[in-house]
Amino acid sequence: MFEMLEEIRAYGLTSIGSADGLEALEKARVELLGRKGRLTSLLKGLGQLTTEDRPKAGQALNMLKQELEAACENKKAEIARQGIAVRIKGFDPSLPGRQMHSGALHPITQVLDEVCSIFGRMGFSIATGPEVELDFYNFEALNIPADHPVRDMQDTFYIDDKVLLRTHTSPIQVRTMEKTSPPLRIIAPGKVYRCDSDVTHTPMFHQVEGLMVDRDVSFSDLKGILTFFLQEFFNAEAAVRFRPSFFPFTEPSAEVDIQCVICRGVGCRVCSQTGWLEVLGAGMVHPEVFRHVGYDAEEFTGFAFGLGIERFSMLRYGIDDIRLFYENDLRFLRQF
Ligand SMILES: [Zn+2]
Repeated sequence: MFEMLEEIRAYGLTSIGSADGLEALEKARVELLGRKGRLTSLLKGLGQLTTEDRPKAGQALNMLKQELEAACENKKAEIARQGIAVRIKGFDPSLPGRQMHSGALHPITQVLDEVCSIFGRMGFSIATGPEVELDFYNFEALNIPADHPVRDMQDTFYIDDKVLLRTHTSPIQVRTMEKTSPPLRIIAPGKVYRCDSDVTHTPMFHQVEGLMVDRDVSFSDLKGILTFFLQEFFNAEAAVRFRPSFFPFTEPSAEVDIQCVICRGVGCRVCSQTGWLEVLGAGMVHPEVFRHVGYDAEEFTGFAFGLGIERFSMLRYGIDDIRLFYENDLRFLRQF
């Protein structure tokens, strides 16, 4: 009896294992476990055994029945899996899925968006202009004389005598004033180009230019708006100061400093121990610029300012090499 069981087991597992489809598997199952199957015949024969042998034999038969049934189920699942793989040719359903990586905004874009949003809340709308610009808009209309050093070949990328890559976003001021009558409040964000490259300069960088023109716009409006902006961007507690300066397109002109955001005015390497950081250039629009666009300088006044987004980003995140922004190193970019 037990020898027969062992023989049926070996035969059964082989025939189930070698079944090449559901039909062959069913045939093997019926042959073993069906009503007239080999195992069923043995079960029927139990009655002929002695009362002593019967329970042991019955137990062994049941165990074999369960084992063969389980083998059938496993084989059935295996055949189903193979079926899927055949239908979707070249696709292996057992491989792990492809991981989706979510992207994020570049730190420069984040800072640019934030600056635009702060001025947006103060009623400034966004203006844009071409990056390939005419000499007229980039220099002449902004009262930058022919002998000004910025017009030198060393500093500016010229395309030909009259066409260049804009060196600042200020030409957008001129283009906007040509098309629009005052009052106006705009900021002009964009890429600018200068022939310069070291730890604090890249040949391409981002500027935001601002312009407000109306009746009775005074230097105190300029101070109020820029102080609000800087405290909103950096730190509400930080002191802001205005120092006299010179720009060809503004008069009077000022450079704007904020109390060092790293050392809070105590003095550190970033602020060269002065406690102050220069962050903006600004001033009242020069009457000569108004003359170029046909504004009446007696009736209207205005102010303009410009800032570098890379500098703001470096100060915001404590970065000391500007080139990191443009090397596309994911270890760097993932920190933002
Ligand atoms: Zn400092």
